Amino acid sequence: MPPKILVSACLAGFKVRYNASNKTLVHSTLERWQQEGRWVICCPELAAGFSTPRPPAEIAAAANGAEVIAGKARVIDADGNDVTEPYLLGAHLALNTARLHDCRFALLSDRSPSCGSQTIYDGSFGGQTQPGSGVTAELLRQNGIEVFSEHQIETLIARVEAAERT
Ligand code: SF4
Repeated sequence: MPPKILVSACLAGFKVRYNASNKTLVHSTLERWQQEGRWVICCPELAAGFSTPRPPAEIAAAANGAEVIAGKARVIDADGNDVTEPYLLGAHLALNTARLHDCRFALLSDRSPSCGSQTIYDGSFGGQTQPGSGVTAELLRQNGIEVFSEHQIETLIARVEAAERT
């Protein structure tokens, strides 16, 4: 069976971001995969019960998703609320979804404290970014799923096509 790909709902066109916007991706190969039923669309934050719109959140103190999973860092929203537990819940729900659909790959929206896989904000709410992963991207990787951002589409396609040949 051709590999399925877990896709951030906002990249799939759904207006589920904190500010009720999307980040729709347009790419012929991605569209073909969607038409072949190979997208598994997921928003970890909505799955965890957040509404849209909602306050933006960042992983505090320049930490990353791995430290949140390890209990060494927190996720805080712009109002100062500790939202670590729902972020962890969303990550585990995304992992369950990926496993149910046998997804070996994920295409996730970068910079998000959930879905970021290359870059995240540094926790200052000042617009500063740093290398690092969000909570969902990190948990997926820790469980063997290859995670790519919207800046790595060609790399993702190459990996999926290599998997199709095996
Ligand atoms: Fe998009 Fe992920 Fe944020 Fe949901 S949690 S809005 S899918 S980046």
